[in-house]
Amino acid sequence: MEYDVHIIGGGLAGSEAAWQLARRGARVRLSEMRGGGDSTPAHQGAGLAELVCSNSFRSDDSDKNAVGLLHHEMRALDSLVMTAAAAAQVPAGSALAVDREVFSAEVEAALAALPTLTVVRERIDRLPSAGLTIVATGPLTAAALADSIGTATGASSLAFFDAIAPIVYRDSIDMDVCWMASRWDKGETKDYINCPMNLEQYRAFHQGLLDGDTTEFREWEASTPYFEGCMPIEVMAARGLDTLRFGPMKPVGLDNPHDATPEFPQGRWPHAVVQLRQDNKLGTLWNMVGFQTKLKHAEQVRLFRTIPGLENAEFARLGGLHRNTFLNSPQLLDRQLRLKSAPHIRFAGQITGCEGYVESSAVGLMAGMMAAAELVGRTWTAPPRTTALGALLAHITGDAEAESYQPMNINFGLFPPVDPTSRKSSATKPTPSGPRSTLRRGKGQLISIETASNSKIRRILTIF
Ligand SMILES: Cc1cc2nc3c(=O)[nH]c(=O)nc-3n(C[C@H](O)[C@H](O)[C@H](O)COP(=O)(O)OP(=O)(O)OC[C@H]3O[C@@H](n4cnc5c(N)ncnc54)[C@H](O)[C@@H]3O)c2cc1C
Repeated sequence: MEYDVHIIGGGLAGSEAAWQLARRGARVRLSEMRGGGDSTPAHQGAGLAELVCSNSFRSDDSDKNAVGLLHHEMRALDSLVMTAAAAAQVPAGSALAVDREVFSAEVEAALAALPTLTVVRERIDRLPSAGLTIVATGPLTAAALADSIGTATGASSLAFFDAIAPIVYRDSIDMDVCWMASRWDKGETKDYINCPMNLEQYRAFHQGLLDGDTTEFREWEASTPYFEGCMPIEVMAARGLDTLRFGPMKPVGLDNPHDATPEFPQGRWPHAVVQLRQDNKLGTLWNMVGFQTKLKHAEQVRLFRTIPGLENAEFARLGGLHRNTFLNSPQLLDRQLRLKSAPHIRFAGQITGCEGYVESSAVGLMAGMMAAAELVGRTWTAPPRTTALGALLAHITGDAEAESYQPMNINFGLFPPVDPTSRKSSATKPTPSGPRSTLRRGKGQLISIETASNSKIRRILTIF
């Protein structure tokens, strides 16, 4: 059969994109290499939309959790992944968890029932030179295709490891302790948030890194060498007491105005400094510079909250280091997820630098709708940034800083800040449970999310 769109990769994003296209009547070829003699190091079987690790789509709370809101919006857009998840659901409290076999079978059955969709078990080794294409080959894209993508995008724009440093919500940083400055006051603006440490604090922190519990590399990850530039901080710490002070925690050129004396009116250099760099254009998220780590998540929260100024830090993302093929999307893709240099090719799923099952599916959903619109000569209008879909898309396609781009889950820091004067602030209300700022953030964001929720959501999001 002739086809209108070629989708490469039958994982979460590819299956969702195929559904969105074929149920609108588009003729789709879905190429999936599993079941045709190939596999990835993480997949176990040949089923479409196989969940490679956990069986959870995380929180289903659309009021206070950004991923729950994403569920809600995807359901409103008739997401196959959400429908299959409902059919395969297993009890998991407020989380949406599934039986993975049932889930994959539901996806397969729904796609098999679409007359204009053909699933072909084949590996694709090169980006097609023409024809509408969606590449959804995921974090473990087969090597030959990854090479072809690298050639098309420039090798330095395709990463094979995500060396993730933690990201902190700006409003949880104590600026009575930290200060804004660039090293040696270079440049016209004070670009970094600096957290000062004295000798005693630094020693304790260093020891904490040495003692910290880390996660192991998977067998197949261990054989992929990581670059010196991605070295976890605990590995650097193990090289010597002062290694970090000559690396990411270098204090030179950073006068701390909170430590000013008559002799040093501009302040003095601390013993060590943790720097945070703005991570999104909104300025709501700040990245801990050079703090990629394999420490366990609970350990990271405990240890990083010992850093002066970060005692009450709320983390939008914690650090990690995984094998993961992804594009520098903010640099390479246009707002419609198309490769700027070859606009017949769209990318979807985790390869765009989103992170997680739900986010990958959501980007697949949007890519499918975009391609469907394009087929009938229209341009898909992106949902507003006050929606989870809109915030995620905007982040990937240009709002994230390209220089420090690393995969990220959906979170409320990607949404525009809420105008505190538009509604009564809930910040002073007592909180029944959970960390104060989590509740405040969730409630605060509801103010903007309300504009795109419930009855209005279908109207806002359904473009054709
Ligand atoms: C080991 C591991 C564990 C993870 N655990 C979780 C988790 O617990 N929770 C979570 O939310 N996220 C997790 N993720 C992150 C991410 O959500 C998943 O990888 C998710 O499956 C990504 O969806 P996707 O559709 O982009 O890619 P995938 O689901 O991986 O789908 C890509 C598909 O493309 C196929 N393919 C690859 N190359 C080719 C080719 N050249 N030709 C044809 N087909 C090809 C693959 O076989 C695969 O079926 C994990 C990632 C990894 C690598």
